[in-house]
Amino acid sequence: MPDATPADAPVFRPGLLDGQVALVTGGGTGIGLGISELLAELGAHVVIASRKAEHLDAAVGAITARGHRASAVALDVRDHERVKAVVQEVAATHGRIDLLVNNAAGNFYAPSATLSPNAWKSVLEIDLYGTFYCTQAVYPIMAAQGGGRVVSTSMTLHYRGWPLMAHATAAKAGIDALTRTLAVEWAPQRIRVNAIAPGPIPTEGVRKAFAPPADSGVPDLFAAAEEKMAEYARTGIPLGRWGTPRDIANMVAFLASPAGDWITGAIFVVDGGEWLAKPPM
Ligand code: NAP
Repeated sequence: MPDATPADAPVFRPGLLDGQVALVTGGGTGIGLGISELLAELGAHVVIASRKAEHLDAAVGAITARGHRASAVALDVRDHERVKAVVQEVAATHGRIDLLVNNAAGNFYAPSATLSPNAWKSVLEIDLYGTFYCTQAVYPIMAAQGGGRVVSTSMTLHYRGWPLMAHATAAKAGIDALTRTLAVEWAPQRIRVNAIAPGPIPTEGVRKAFAPPADSGVPDLFAAAEEKMAEYARTGIPLGRWGTPRDIANMVAFLASPAGDWITGAIFVVDGGEWLAKPPM
């Protein structure tokens, strides 16, 4: 399990995001939940959007129980019309959308030779199409209000060959391209478009995704003994620990703050140095 980390300590001033409205896709679990929690702690009203009521209700309940502002909306980011309707509804209710966090994803290991068209399509539609649909939908609102910020969640696995992840690496490479292109295209509207590439963070979602097919010969790190997991974190990651959702949330908060005013088109690797050090699979 992740060691306790200083990254979990509060580092931003209270009220930093007072009055802001943030829409976080997949914000009810894992990294997205960490992002939702920190943005709300810093004063933003966070609207969490994903498919499952149990994720949405639990996240909003936990955030509001601490006295912060959050609400939920049911959304499948693959549904273009629904994305547009939800974004318009959020803007109508709150008067603005300052920050969109594209965090929803659905990744899993699968051999490329037998990957079904449906599996390929599903991952591309959630990770890449969903990111584009949501980003395109907030454009008119952010342009009309004089600016806004988009932060998408990428990964580092496509920086080199990563077997069994053709679908997710293709989708995330597309997100990187989208980030750079939209950053330039929408800079005149003062819409900053950035991405974060997290390293390994043992959320429930990633534990499921990293459970490779039994016959693939790929070791399932997260099903290994606790001791081996801890050893991998100590020796495989230069900074010696797993990441936490708060590590990523801190970068989102930084980009959402005035410190991010002159940053656009950047893809921030937040991974303890893992991808640079990791031997090829
Ligand atoms: P996670 O807990 O499985 O989160 C994925 C979220 O996406 C869930 O809240 C899920 O909520 C939502 N979602 C899935 N399909 C959706 C859809 N069609 N429409 C709307 N929402 C949908 O995974 P995580 O580990 O926190 O990952 C979060 C992000 O970080 C992902 O983009 C992932 O690729 C990226 N990332 C993670 C790691 C890591 O090590 N954890 C590393 C690199 C990158 P519902 O089920 O309620 O829809």
